[in-house]
Amino acid sequence: MRLAGLKTTFNSSLTLKIFCTCFLSTHLPLISLAVYLTMSSHGNLGPIFIVVLSATLVGTIFCLGSVWIFLHPLRQVTRAIEIYRVKGHVEKISSLRQDEIGVVTNGVANLIRELDRKIEQLRRQAYTDPLTGLGNRHWFNEAAAREISRAARDKTPLALILLDLDHFKRINDEYGHDVGDKVLMAAGATIQDCLRPHDVAARIGGEEFSIVLANTNLDTAVEIANRLKTRLERIIINPLPNGRVTASFGVYQADPAKQSLKTMLKAADHQLYSAKRSGRNTVCSAAALS
Ligand code: GH3
Ligand code: MG
Ligand code: MG
Repeated sequence: MRLAGLKTTFNSSLTLKIFCTCFLSTHLPLISLAVYLTMSSHGNLGPIFIVVLSATLVGTIFCLGSVWIFLHPLRQVTRAIEIYRVKGHVEKISSLRQDEIGVVTNGVANLIRELDRKIEQLRRQAYTDPLTGLGNRHWFNEAAAREISRAARDKTPLALILLDLDHFKRINDEYGHDVGDKVLMAAGATIQDCLRPHDVAARIGGEEFSIVLANTNLDTAVEIANRLKTRLERIIINPLPNGRVTASFGVYQADPAKQSLKTMLKAADHQLYSAKRSGRNTVCSAAALS
């Protein structure tokens, strides 16, 4: 069992392999001399043996110390790879050496940094709506779930706003898809501008946006929705007539301890539907029964 453990340690450690090789190599002259002395009938060769033994010991210490220093960057690289694999944390490593180990160390350090940048870039792309720059539905589901858990844990209120641009299809049909895209971009920018940095806003459908307002009660959420409604009405996009961009709003104050995101969205959507039915460019709201 112990032997198997030693074998595994030996197999997985380059440092140990080089140590053993160097140890054996540096001791060869000493071993040869010892064998020669035991087999020969020469007189007093003790001093020679002591000199060779001392030289071997000094050589061994020098050799092992040098190997330890030479291999140090490789151990750093191994650690950095493991930390990145397990924790996703980029360790700062670099070597001033110009030999192969220096090249490998700096090469791996650059690769990990580059890999991390690319992963971050892909993650951002996967979570972002490219037209408006807001989060997409996928991101919204995750971010909203986090806010709901936090609100349930801290026992703080949480409100949702769903908004849908009014008669948006007609904008596309009458002015073209490009103008429709400009409207979506302007709506996204307006939403972003109206909210606090920690509010969660996303484009979750063609011309549908959703917002999670943490630590916000129904009155404040309705106030925010009304402010947003006014700001959207003020959007000017050539050649649309002023005030053409409007939206209908469904606001819902949820019960984060009892309701799932799906239930909350359904309730907010219900209010949005009421806003559409009551003539559009309107805010309708409700709160969860507590
Ligand atoms: P309502 O007031 O009832 O919401 O009517 P609406 O016309 O806004 O809603 P409807 O669902 O009938 O039409 C939504 C349109 O949004 C249809 C679709 O072509 C358009 N749309 C979806 N995504 C995009 C996009 O990325 N760019 C543009 N320009 N249009 C889009
Ligand atoms: Mg619409
Ligand atoms: Mg819609």
